Amino acid sequence: MYAGRQQVFLEATMICISVKCPCCGKSLVSAKKKLDKAPALEVNLTYAGKHAPLYLSSLYGSYAIESELNVPLGKAAGFRCPHCKADLKIIRKCEVCGAQMVAFDLTGGGQVQFCSKRGCKKHLLEFQNPDNELQAFYKSYLKALK
Ligand SMILES: [Zn+2]
Ligand SMILES: [Zn+2]
Repeated sequence: MYAGRQQVFLEATMICISVKCPCCGKSLVSAKKKLDKAPALEVNLTYAGKHAPLYLSSLYGSYAIESELNVPLGKAAGFRCPHCKADLKIIRKCEVCGAQMVAFDLTGGGQVQFCSKRGCKKHLLEFQNPDNELQAFYKSYLKALK
């Protein structure tokens, strides 16, 4: 039963997030695509005048991504909502590399932000009302595990 116990530990450290566009409010969770065995998040990636869908793992802490557009390591890309085409970059700059951060709204409240530079692993969860939102976040997460 050791393997089973380890699996639970892994799931408990990987939080599956559900996000929406801060501009139009539509879900960014892909209906078809899966990464890490969970529904992937889908945005429009733009780089050097080209664009293609980008799929990100919805597991918080996972860096799994998939796209036909190959952004070179160390280059910042553009991220747009696939529904309303809003630019998802925010004013905040990455503390690590200085590139602009990108933000999605969590459906339970708060935001998940990550660095727009390829290869930079900076990302964070932010809650405006940490007590309520964090609690709601963990509650929905625990529900998903049952
Ligand atoms: Zn949108
Ligand atoms: Zn960065």
